Amino acid sequence: MIKITDTHAHYDDEAFNSDRYELLERLLAEKCEKIVTLGCDIAKSRQSLEIAEKFDNVYAAVGVHPENCADEKDDYLDELKKLCAHRKAVAIGEIGLDFHWEPFDRSRQIRFFREQLELAKELGMPVCVHSRDCTKEILDILREYKPNGVMHCFSGSIEVAKEILSFGMMISFTGLLTFSNAKKAAEACAYIPIDRIMLETDCPYMTPVPHRGERNDSGNLIYTAEKLAEIKGLTVEEAVRICNENAERFFRFGDTADA
Ligand SMILES: [Zn+2]
Ligand SMILES: [Zn+2]
Repeated sequence: MIKITDTHAHYDDEAFNSDRYELLERLLAEKCEKIVTLGCDIAKSRQSLEIAEKFDNVYAAVGVHPENCADEKDDYLDELKKLCAHRKAVAIGEIGLDFHWEPFDRSRQIRFFREQLELAKELGMPVCVHSRDCTKEILDILREYKPNGVMHCFSGSIEVAKEILSFGMMISFTGLLTFSNAKKAAEACAYIPIDRIMLETDCPYMTPVPHRGERNDSGNLIYTAEKLAEIKGLTVEEAVRICNENAERFFRFGDTADA
């Protein structure tokens, strides 16, 4: 059985309230090498760390998602900084911009994104970046910071991928890669060097074919890995091995053990 590292999941989500710990135990025993669970506000980040504390191979990212910055306190940064010091905190995320659902406060989103990029730089931590309907704005900011980061749930064009790669960033793919209408993402995936790609579920969302419509979990990551292998002309084992290694290099899991 191939064990895959899921670099982006949300096990704090209420969709997992009925079976969170049994599910994680089973996934880690059978299907997952490591799992990174991401918080989307301060309270959820704290919860993500509590989940990570229970399992050797679950790690957490802590941060304020653009959709949640409207409700987060103005002085969230001190609290976030404390969470970053936790031994299982491997990244700041998820952070970014999301101009999809009206109304949104563009300047507040940009402020939070910049503040968290600054904090990541100060602490030497990687960032997990979310982007929706804001390509120009987010590329302008990333060009400025060139963070040690990953653009998650990538669905963009080859041109956008080129820019992100030029900043030195990684790109990760969800089950979206398996969707028949995600041609652009598949083309970009073919273009991106395999050593810059990571695999993620973004569960409980973004369930891959053939399970669309169901709750997603890290056990479904194999379908995205199979699609990636097909696009790259690799065996599934080889594609997974490389993506797992990329995740090790990016998150430096081992470094947090004694921190
Ligand atoms: Zn996201
Ligand atoms: Zn996410």
